[in-house]
Amino acid sequence: MNAAFTSIGAIHLQPVGEGVALELLDEIAAALARTFRVSCHVRTAALDVRFALDAIRGQYYSTAILEALMRIAAAENAGTRLLGVTALDLYVPILTFVFGEAQMQGPCALVSLHRLREEFYGLPPQPELLMARAIKEAVHELGHTLGLRHCPDWRCVMASTHAVERLDLKEPHFCAACRRATGL
Ligand SMILES: [Zn+2]
Ligand SMILES: [Zn+2]
Repeated sequence: MNAAFTSIGAIHLQPVGEGVALELLDEIAAALARTFRVSCHVRTAALDVRFALDAIRGQYYSTAILEALMRIAAAENAGTRLLGVTALDLYVPILTFVFGEAQMQGPCALVSLHRLREEFYGLPPQPELLMARAIKEAVHELGHTLGLRHCPDWRCVMASTHAVERLDLKEPHFCAACRRATGL
């Protein structure tokens, strides 16, 4: 393990692109502060990521956004995590979409709200469900920054999920094994 990333010193939430409500970031920050027992800070200026748009796919390349977040994170104290939150639809070349992406034992993570909204599936909005999903995704990606890999326990927040139905089955926290591995 890289000792610099075995714990989280603080979490900074960074809006990525337009359309991320600050109230929503505040709520995610409050949940993360409880889970990781660290201070969370919400940045107000959105990061412009038009460079990451694939015009043909109509989606944004999440790895390119992570690289932009890394340049911002370089100015922060060691142990600080920079979590990008976006309303944009994300992809990596081998997948049709991703809910998020993180650097394994790194300072940066990114989550997308796009496919966490019920409206995406043609259903009426459910703000509480959106929040619950966003928190699970955020905890999951931050778990990767601590070096956690995907967990075989489907209830654990570190279980791999590619559909909201599976995401809804997960707990918003780490299983005992993952918790032990992170020292949380
Ligand atoms: Zn994952
Ligand atoms: Zn687990």
